[in-house]
Amino acid sequence: MSRKLRVGGLVPLTTLDYPGQLACVLFCQGCAWRCRYCHNPQLIPPRGSEELDWCRVLGFLQRRQDLLDAVVFSGGEPTLQDGLPGAMEEVRAMGFRVGLHSAGIKPKAFARAVAGADWVGFDVKGLAEDVPAITGVERSGVANWRSLEHLLASGVDYECRTTVHWQLFEPARLLLLAQRLQAFGVKRFAVQLVRTARMLDPQLSDAPVQVMVPDLWQHIREMFPQFVLRG
Ligand code: SF4
Repeated sequence: MSRKLRVGGLVPLTTLDYPGQLACVLFCQGCAWRCRYCHNPQLIPPRGSEELDWCRVLGFLQRRQDLLDAVVFSGGEPTLQDGLPGAMEEVRAMGFRVGLHSAGIKPKAFARAVAGADWVGFDVKGLAEDVPAITGVERSGVANWRSLEHLLASGVDYECRTTVHWQLFEPARLLLLAQRLQAFGVKRFAVQLVRTARMLDPQLSDAPVQVMVPDLWQHIREMFPQFVLRG
């Protein structure tokens, strides 16, 4: 089954994508959402022009067994691929920890994938009612938050992260999002200011937008045992 995993790219070594681990990142091909700020638009189509054969990916990982701690399945949206659980098992059998980056587009498939992961970087796109304006997909907010419920119920280690482009996020909505996440029981939260070098929607400004909100970050920081601001 895992032989069908479609991998659209690979980063051989990173310390940023799985906290505290030396990891390789596999970018899984395909995504059902169209986030306006998506910085990997080449991974959205179900088939990519530069896909890597899964056997060659395994060969690469075999040669790195003594050098890497973990393999992170990122995307795109890895949980849309039926081959993901099998691929995770193969990687684990080689001795690697398994990381997952996901927005939980299909909650049931996400829950299955979480069961095979040691750590999850979960994209909370926004307040459930605001998410469709970011992803372009109706009911995507419901799916995103249902998957968050699965994640918190699983007991698997995680970080929730939200990407912010100030054209898509009012500061007051970001504060409300943080409050809702806190009420949901989220303990580890990160806000990532968008990377504007490459975005799906050319209408979005690629100039840094300054938003001056007194004490916004301090308010949010105080809500979580762990909070990180990136970018
Ligand atoms: S940012 Fe959005 S569109 Fe891009 S891969 Fe992630 S979920 Fe899909």
